[in-house]
Amino acid sequence: MFNARLVNDPFGDPALYLDLRYRREALLFDLGDIQELAPRMILKIDHIFVTHTHMDHFIGFDHMLRICLGREKHLALYGPPGFIDNVQGKLAAYTWNLVENYSNDFRLFVTEIHPDRTQTAVLTCRQAFRPGKERQATPFGGTILERESYRVKGIFLDHRVPCLAFRLEEKRRVNVKKNALAEMGLPGGTWINSLKDSIHRNEPDDSPFRVWWKGEGKRIVERIFPLGELRGKIVKITPGQKIVYVSDVIYSPGNTERIVEFARGADVLFIEACFLDEDRQRAAEKYHLTAWQAGRLARLSGVKRFVLFHYSPKYRGMEERFEEEAMQEFKGDEGVGGRG
Ligand SMILES: [Zn+2]
Repeated sequence: MFNARLVNDPFGDPALYLDLRYRREALLFDLGDIQELAPRMILKIDHIFVTHTHMDHFIGFDHMLRICLGREKHLALYGPPGFIDNVQGKLAAYTWNLVENYSNDFRLFVTEIHPDRTQTAVLTCRQAFRPGKERQATPFGGTILERESYRVKGIFLDHRVPCLAFRLEEKRRVNVKKNALAEMGLPGGTWINSLKDSIHRNEPDDSPFRVWWKGEGKRIVERIFPLGELRGKIVKITPGQKIVYVSDVIYSPGNTERIVEFARGADVLFIEACFLDEDRQRAAEKYHLTAWQAGRLARLSGVKRFVLFHYSPKYRGMEERFEEEAMQEFKGDEGVGGRG
C-alpha cells in the first residue's frame, strides 16, 4: 500500500515521495530539492523517475548521491532522452580518485526513455562512475517498471522539451485481517510480506506456505499451511490504487488528450499549477498550467481527487486562490470557467 506525499510545500521544488508501507521500499517522482527528507527515508528509495531535467526537477541528485555514497546500494533512475548524459555530466563534476577501495559498491542504473525504446547504462562507484560504452536497449511499450505488486507507466508530454508523466498502479491490494490472524493463533512477522508476494504471483492453492516466528528463547516456531487456506481465511483482496503525476506541461489539445487518457479514473492526480488563470498568457509562454487548467484536466480525467503543486513564488501568501480556482472548475461550478 503506497502512501504518497509531496516532499516540499507547493512553492518548493517538485518531488513526490511514494512510500511502500510495511516494506523497505520507496519511489520518487521528480528529484527536486530533497533536503527535507530524512536520510533513512532517502535510503529507502530504489527507483527515481524524473519528468525532465530542468534544474528544479533534478537538483536533488547531488544530495541523493551524497547520502548513498559508500553504501551497498543499487539505485535506478529513469528520465527522458538525453538523461544518461545528464547524469554523467553531474558525476563528471566531481573527483573520484579514492573510491576504488571502498568496501561497498554503490551502483546507478540509469535508464533513458525514448518513445519506442529504453537504454540503460550502469555506473558504479568503484569504477569512479566511468561511463562504459555498453548500453542495454529494450523496446518501450509504456511500462517503465514492473514489480510484483505494482507497475509504473510513463507517457511523453510537451513542455517545449519532451517531458514524462508517470502513473503508479498497484495491481491489487492484499490486506491481512488482523482478527482472523488472531483467531488462528498466528503472530505477524516478515512471513506476511512473503504471503502477499505468493498471492501476487498467483501461486496455486495447494502450494505449501511456511508461517514462522520467534517463540520462547528466540526458538523458531513454524507451521505449514496450504496457501489456499491462508488466502481464504486471513486475506482480503481489494483493487489497488492509481496515482498519477503530471508536471510541467503547456495547456494544449495534444497534452489534454494524452493527460485525460493517462489519468482516467485515478485515485489521486498530482498536477502542477504554476500560475493563476489571470496570468494564463504568461503560463502559455512558460509552457506551464494555470490552476484553472489543472482543475479542468482533473475533471475531464474523472479522478477522485487532485493535489496541486509547483506554484510560482510570486504568488506567495495566495495559496488558497490556487485551491479555490482549481476546485471550482473541478466541480464544474459556474464563475471562473467557460474558457476551455
Ligand atoms: Zn520545466
